[in-house]
Amino acid sequence: MRVGDNSILGREAVVDNREHSYSQAFKQIAKAVNSLLPLNNVLNSAAKSTAKALKAAGCSIMLLNPQREHLDIIAAYGLSDIYLRKGALKASKSLPEVLDGKMIAIFDVTQDKRAQYPEAAEMERISSVLAAPIPQKGEVIGEIRIYTREPRQFSQADKNFLATIADIVAIALEKTELYQVLKTEHEETVTQRRRLAETPKLPSSSLRPSSFGHSSEGEFAKLLDFYRIEWLYEPRSFPLAWQDNKVTEMFTPDFYLPELDLYIELTTLKQSLITEKNRKLRRLREVYPEINIKLLNKSDYLRLLAKYGYGHLGGTKVEGIDHILFSHTQIQRRVKALAKRISRDYVGRKLILIGILRGVICFMSDLMQHTTLPLTVDFMSISYYGTDNESAVKITKDLDTSIAGLDVLMVEDIVDTGMTLNYVLNHLASHNPASLRVCTLLDKRVRRLIDVPLDYIGFEIPDEFVVGYGLDYHGEYRNLPFIGALNPELIEDEGKK
Ligand code: 5GP
Repeated sequence: MRVGDNSILGREAVVDNREHSYSQAFKQIAKAVNSLLPLNNVLNSAAKSTAKALKAAGCSIMLLNPQREHLDIIAAYGLSDIYLRKGALKASKSLPEVLDGKMIAIFDVTQDKRAQYPEAAEMERISSVLAAPIPQKGEVIGEIRIYTREPRQFSQADKNFLATIADIVAIALEKTELYQVLKTEHEETVTQRRRLAETPKLPSSSLRPSSFGHSSEGEFAKLLDFYRIEWLYEPRSFPLAWQDNKVTEMFTPDFYLPELDLYIELTTLKQSLITEKNRKLRRLREVYPEINIKLLNKSDYLRLLAKYGYGHLGGTKVEGIDHILFSHTQIQRRVKALAKRISRDYVGRKLILIGILRGVICFMSDLMQHTTLPLTVDFMSISYYGTDNESAVKITKDLDTSIAGLDVLMVEDIVDTGMTLNYVLNHLASHNPASLRVCTLLDKRVRRLIDVPLDYIGFEIPDEFVVGYGLDYHGEYRNLPFIGALNPELIEDEGKK
């Protein structure tokens, strides 16, 4: 009786142990698949966790080539270089039934006809092999194999586990493919947009001249382009005086800015010119009172741009900015609208705004100032670290206050893949807040890998690296009053260093 009892307990312990190693492996593999790691790192990590969970000496993951003739090893663990390079694995010769969708277990691979390289297996001291097909969209695209030193009869639990890992590997492969497709589509759109932007606009000769009457006009046009303010050059001539029904005087302002419905005449500081132009402008206003026109010299127009939120930047670093996405005025308008919604939604609640340093500083500062409710704020700091097989977010500064029972609004500068936010939300949720929602200024949705819920979104942006208004590139650009896209070539060049 006692013997029987012991053996039942012993069996339970074995099952417990096995379930523990399986769940550990699932946890590690799921984390790797959900990470930003390159595919080969993800798969190598999956091979390692699989081998360890099944107490096997090695594991390999292979994909069929497009002609479905060969199997290419794309990830492995615990196998020597000599074994991995033993020769091409022919789809028809190396455990061919696996590619028909069957799970194959071989007790002694050195003696089995289905093995293509039995001698290599003997040299590697491999006895048994378990192989599972990797299915994708109804067909087998490759296989995952584990290898043991001791001859082994694989259990049903071993087989089920390996089949599930094969499914997860298929998901990892599909995720990468999907990401590549999205990335390529996006790159095509960006290239197309850039090409369009480079194409001279038609009719161009008068509205976008190749040369200007005066260098200050060219300089002004460049500034307008930089701030993405639409402009037309000398678009209209206004008759100012007539004699016998014939026009005797005309005036053609230099620019028209449709967005501001404003005509602009530029002038230098030469007094005689200013007097003459002022006379014409007075006349124009008399004849065309509905027309909005201004005479500007350089410091005037810099002041004018500043008034519309296209601030005067002084010595602030702007080189490297390819184009501006949102001006200071646009950002302010949007932040106010978000704050208004938040003020409405959180009436009577215990609101705490939480930000991650440092990108969120400008947004947090403006958002809290426009939120008309009692609230508190707290900040966290995180860092990213990576080893060969893992990449993770680490909290380097946690909250100073308890959030239990509070209505937490996580304030983010930008959500890109969603990895950071996902991690932080899980962390915050474990501290029992009354509610947990997210407000992000920028949403780079095309790059999303984890579907995180966003409750308040400032702007959706394309896949461009943006800086300014708190966001940095190597610590710089945070103090720009607008949000601009960094020249992609600059990022690539930096990457090569
Ligand atoms: P995720 O975990 O969503 O991929 O990344 C979020 C973090 O990556 C952001 O908080 C931000 O620090 C950084 N990030 C992502 N995209 C950009 C970008 O376009 N510009 C800048 N400056 N940082 C970015």
